[in-house]
Amino acid sequence: MNPPTSPSAEIPVPTVMETGGLGGHPRGLTTLFFTEMWERFSYYGMRALLILFMVKTAAEGGLGFDTKKSAAIYGTYTMSVYLLSILGGFIADNFIGARRAVLIGGIVIATGHFSMAFNSEVTFFAGLVLITIGTGLLKPNISTMVGSLYSPADQRRDAGFSIFYMGINLGAFASPLVTGWLAQSDAWKNQLAAWGLNPLHSWHWGFAAAGVGMTFGLLNYLLQRQRLAHVGHAPAAGARPWGRLGLVALGSLALIAAMKASDDHPALVYVLFALQIAAIAFFAFKPNPDSKRIAAILVFFFAAEIFWAIFEQAGSTLTLFADQLTRNEFFGHAFPSSWWQSVNSVWVILLAPVFAFLWIKLGSKQPSSPVKFALGLLFVALSFVLMVPAAKLTAEGKVGPMWLVALYFLQTVGEMLLSPVGLSTMTKLAPPRLLGMVMGIWFLAAALGNKLAGVLAGEFQATDANVLATFFWHQALAVGACTLVLFALAPWVKKLMGGVH
Ligand code: GLN
Repeated sequence: MNPPTSPSAEIPVPTVMETGGLGGHPRGLTTLFFTEMWERFSYYGMRALLILFMVKTAAEGGLGFDTKKSAAIYGTYTMSVYLLSILGGFIADNFIGARRAVLIGGIVIATGHFSMAFNSEVTFFAGLVLITIGTGLLKPNISTMVGSLYSPADQRRDAGFSIFYMGINLGAFASPLVTGWLAQSDAWKNQLAAWGLNPLHSWHWGFAAAGVGMTFGLLNYLLQRQRLAHVGHAPAAGARPWGRLGLVALGSLALIAAMKASDDHPALVYVLFALQIAAIAFFAFKPNPDSKRIAAILVFFFAAEIFWAIFEQAGSTLTLFADQLTRNEFFGHAFPSSWWQSVNSVWVILLAPVFAFLWIKLGSKQPSSPVKFALGLLFVALSFVLMVPAAKLTAEGKVGPMWLVALYFLQTVGEMLLSPVGLSTMTKLAPPRLLGMVMGIWFLAAALGNKLAGVLAGEFQATDANVLATFFWHQALAVGACTLVLFALAPWVKKLMGGVH
């Protein structure tokens, strides 16, 4: 029997180990780090304003939509952004290559943000659609290019993704502070008035700032493009699969429609779970190694979906907990509840170097990807276990901020074990001609997790401490059960991965 070969073996990689970039990594990583930092700056900067801008009245400069409509638009947007990654990955794999997909995606994203700088509903919705399409092109393909910088045997790959992840969170941390200040601060509104401009348009300055951020990312990408000359090529000339492109596009739209329909028909969510389990079994028991790797990818997909379903409640359940049940003070100084949104990013910035160091230090002794995933689930489950006593204490009034600080610490440890590792694992497991598509599937897990998080958060209530404690406990138990199953399955999944670790 032939020894298993790594599917990534055909990815073009530099022949000598390149160490001129951040932390002794390839120089291309530095380029991708800053490009993605600015792209995420634009994404999270705009997202921080999105729901607020929709619910504010026209007299406050907003669109005056009701909460239900705004939440529905917000949910569909955040889901679609990740869901269109499959299409973006497919286009890169079969038509234009990852390098060009990132460039075009970035241009489309910047155009989308600048479109939202204008004060009209048409340009607002056009902006959302453009950002969704652009992110679908950029996000999966920039991630696959990080993986392409490393040879299959290079132990630095997971560490490289941890560093890349830090770039994501530098952007995510800084941007709400900038766009939020432009959109909401009196200082900026007064400045606009002093210039003879309409202070109610402050929101659009925030959206424009997101576009400026993406433009910086594009400039950085273009100026340093020669560092990436060896990765992300278009496929060799030949017939292009236009028919399949149509199918993937239609399939993506159908999935968005089905997920929207699950609001009224929650049973659809269970159908989705059943389909995923059936798909794992179907591929796992096929004899060829590529099918077994797809089964492994689907196990990771399932675990990631559960993870994001808890983690992505940060913007809903935990923001409500912060707003209604927490004393938002730091050394005696009160701060707005929305600032909690940055805490996860701060933890990532602090922890990413620790994990990058840990993976390098452990080298070939690091736990396998399925074990890292199971640990990721364990930490996110523990974060909700922690909320059980916190919820009970709310019976006596608001609780201190340390509960949420500790929760975000646990969730971020889980995130560092699962999210950058997941990106890295996808680049190892995907057959090269399907690299972008497989990365798209990875982000589909985020799309579905976001949707599920919305469903779960719908059960949140702040009036009965015991009911709230049960709310957290039940979710912790469910994720705890998934953790145990994944630990038990880890050796089997490792086998399915066929020599890739
Ligand atoms: N926060 C990370 C990012 O923006 C992960 C998002 C995700 O995969 N759900 O890239």
